[in-house]
Amino acid sequence: MKEIYQYLFGPVPSRRLGRSLGIDLTPFKRCSFDCVFCQLGCTTHLATDRKEFVPFDDVCSEFDRWLTTDGTADYITFAGSGEPTLYSRLGELVDFIKARTDIPVIILSNGTLLQHPEVQQETARADIVKVSLSAWNDESFKTINRPAPDLSFGELLSGERDFRAMFSGQLWVEVFLMEGINAELRHVQQLAEIVAKIQPDKIHLNTAVRPPAEAIAKPVAREKLEGFCRYFTPTAEVIASFDPVQPDRGNEVEGEELVSLLQRHPSTATQLADLFGVETTAIHTALAPFLRKEALHTDIRDGEVYYK
Ligand code: SF4
Repeated sequence: MKEIYQYLFGPVPSRRLGRSLGIDLTPFKRCSFDCVFCQLGCTTHLATDRKEFVPFDDVCSEFDRWLTTDGTADYITFAGSGEPTLYSRLGELVDFIKARTDIPVIILSNGTLLQHPEVQQETARADIVKVSLSAWNDESFKTINRPAPDLSFGELLSGERDFRAMFSGQLWVEVFLMEGINAELRHVQQLAEIVAKIQPDKIHLNTAVRPPAEAIAKPVAREKLEGFCRYFTPTAEVIASFDPVQPDRGNEVEGEELVSLLQRHPSTATQLADLFGVETTAIHTALAPFLRKEALHTDIRDGEVYYK
């Protein structure tokens, strides 16, 4: 039986990153943003203070156990139940991992703490850092990201630009577009102009294909997103998962493994079946006990049932 960890999840198959092992360092759901599009739901602890939310030594020992019992992934990704740079020992943890494996480390961040030199230094120990930018001024920042009160759009932008200047690894920017909010051409052109100043190596366009925190976050059609790519420098790519990944894994799937993933990525049974390469009946069977004991819940969106 596959071991289920408290702070590690996956490795999750992904079209761009192959098999990615997730590391989750924040309690659900602590973030410096409360984005209307967040697939984790509304932020319950909106804050910018950094802490050792989960015991550093416990995360390290889970990682060592994973290395000796599995140890195969294409990437190790800091992401999960909130903003990873809020973890006060992030830099130490990246060093710990890089001393043990050559698997590249990615940090997925909203970029808000990169205005602080010590957070820049810690984050820069990763091989790839992906930051988000979906607003173009203070007003859109407050509407879309609903930041902690001590944050401003100007500081977010200057933090991301300063980080680019000192970081020699790959910097990616994700722009999240929503119909009726920031998906008109004039918005995209403003976003493209701002993102270009950050000088990222890659730009990803995403949209609300999974249930968002707020119903106002509507998805943008794939063709429209693809049409926006050329406005960005370098040319953006669409990463929204309109199509499923289809690895072949027989018909075996562990309920605990699914729940661990669903806590961070709400999904339909069909999406899970495609992701894990099994029949949807295997997903329903594996999830049923967790639904009965209310460890899982459902959310209906556009006529589809999402588990979370
Ligand atoms: S999308 Fe990311 S940055 Fe925004 S609230 Fe959710 S976890 Fe925080």
